[in-house]
Formats: sequence, structure tokens, C-alpha cells
Amino acid sequence: MITVLSGGTGTPKLLQGLKEIVDPSDLTIIVNTLENDYFSGVYVSADIDTVLYTMADMINDEFWYGVKDDTFITHERLEELGCGELLRIGDIDRATKIQKTQLMQKYGLKKACEIQAENMGIKSKIIPMSEEQSDIKIITDMGELEFHDFLIKHQSEPKVLDLKFSKVSPAEGIIEAIKNSEAVIIGPSNPITSISPILSLEDVRDALKETYTIAVSPIIGSDAVSGPASKFMEALGVEVSSVGVASLYQDFLDNFVIDTQDSNLESQLNQIVNKVTITNTIMNSLDAKKNLAQIIIDSIP
Ligand code: GDP
Repeated sequence: MITVLSGGTGTPKLLQGLKEIVDPSDLTIIVNTLENDYFSGVYVSADIDTVLYTMADMINDEFWYGVKDDTFITHERLEELGCGELLRIGDIDRATKIQKTQLMQKYGLKKACEIQAENMGIKSKIIPMSEEQSDIKIITDMGELEFHDFLIKHQSEPKVLDLKFSKVSPAEGIIEAIKNSEAVIIGPSNPITSISPILSLEDVRDALKETYTIAVSPIIGSDAVSGPASKFMEALGVEVSSVGVASLYQDFLDNFVIDTQDSNLESQLNQIVNKVTITNTIMNSLDAKKNLAQIIIDSIP
């Protein structure tokens, strides 16, 4: 079994490649839940839904959010009724979220995801990192903001001064999944708001020390490929580079995959990581995703 730690953009791109070259039933995907919350009366677990849609070949991979070719009839009607939505939720996506909300209230988030994955014909295991509600605050030059207010309402524009999130307990089965895996892959996800929340769960770092762990850098040069990762890293005093990312994972990391554009960092990285793999990590086509996935799988001892 291979376990993947995922957020909602960079790692799902890699999952599109991985699921083509690995038997999906051999994959367990542990997904960030830091930003989960209720919006428009439904529970929104954006990263989980992105992973579900990715594995079911339904993802809108232009935005890495929602379902491809979705319609927005309900969203538009809500706007007409003067009931604007912070998140623009498509109709099919909303149906998923309504079902998840109901299942979650009855069985908890983990079981809800399991049922939905089965309904969508997904063979991989998709586990939320926690069943507990996280609390995240982004401290900016405009004051303290909720995550989605920062990301959507303010388009990630405010200067980030600090970021705080509450501690939650790991969902059942996560530690076992990591320990029983041949390898753990940390995809190129935001190291601060997607991967750190998973790493901060009790016993996760220790379990990773016992398992061969490969991470792909989401930073190329001195910026993220997309999204606000560099702003968050800077606010927390982490160097915005692959070296900065590696420093966050160095206590358990066995192999760090960086982009060819960063090959000049190899000797510096060799001082903090056992193995450095240099390849193209920009996943702008299915071939690029499969190639990167294959290089990662081939590197597992
Ligand atoms: P979020 O939940 O939407 O924030 O998404 P993730 O945390 O999964 O992913 C965001 C990170 O993915 C960003 O820091 C990007 O730099 C990184 N990313 C997106 N696409 C690529 C890519 O093609 N290659 C690499 N190396 N990183 C990527």
C-alpha cells in the first residue's frame, strides 16, 4: 500500500498520474480538513471533495474545485433571492455536499467519505485527517480573517503576519495506514495550510519516521506554482524555497523531489535530506503527471 498526504490542488494533480500507474485499491489518501466549515447550509470539505472528484474523474481541473461541466442554477437563484454565496457551489457539487452533510451528521465525516467514495466507484481509501472541526485564523494587515474570507473575499491579497490553527485528533486508521505502507508520498501541497495540519496530528511525525517518505516540493525557485503558500511560509519565517519546504519535513523525510529549475539547490538539500531527486515537477499534462508519479514509485526502495 502507498499512502498519500493531500491538499486540494498540487497533490490531486499528482493523484491523476498515480492512479494511472498504481492499482487505485493500493492507494490510501489522507486529506487535509483544516479549512472545512459550513457554507450556504452545507458542510464544505473542499480538499476532500477535490480528491473524491479527482479519483472519480469528475474534477473541474481548471480550478481544482467542484465538478467539471457543472451547472450553477441553484447558485444563481440564491443570488437572485439576495442570498449571496461566498463559495460558488455548482449543482452536482452541491448534491455531494448535501449528502455529505447528512451522512456526516449521522455517521461522522470519515464514514461519510467512505460511503461517498464507494458511491462514486472509487477503489482507493480516502480518509479525512480528522473528524474534529479545526479552527484557523489568518492574522493579516487587515486584521484577523477566516480562511475563506482571506482566500476568496480578499483574493489572498492581504499581507499575512501570522497564522494559527487549533490542534485536532487524527481520524481513526491514519497512523496504521502510514505505518503499514510501503511508502508515504507527500504531494506538492501547501506545506503550511495543507500538509502541516496533517503533520501536527498526534503520532503522525513518529509514524512517518518509521516509513519511507517522499515529498514533492510545491515551491519552484522562490515562489509557489499557484496559491498563497509563499505568503504563509514567509509569515512563519520559513524560507520560500525548496530548502524551506525540506526544513519543515527534515525529521522524517527520506527523499525530496525538486524541479529541474532548482537543481542548484541539490548540495544544500543533501545536507538536510538523505536523497534528492531532480525532475520536471510542473504537472501541466497527463503525461507530466504520470512521469512524475512513475519517478516517485520507482524511487521506493
Ligand atoms: P489547496 O488545498 O488548494 O491549497 O491545494 P494544495 O495545498 O494541494 O496545493 C497547493 C500547492 O500546490 C501550491 O503551493 C502550489 O505551489 C502547488 N502546485 C500546484 N500545481 C503544482 C505543480 O504542477 N507542480 C508543483 N511542484 N507544485 C504544484
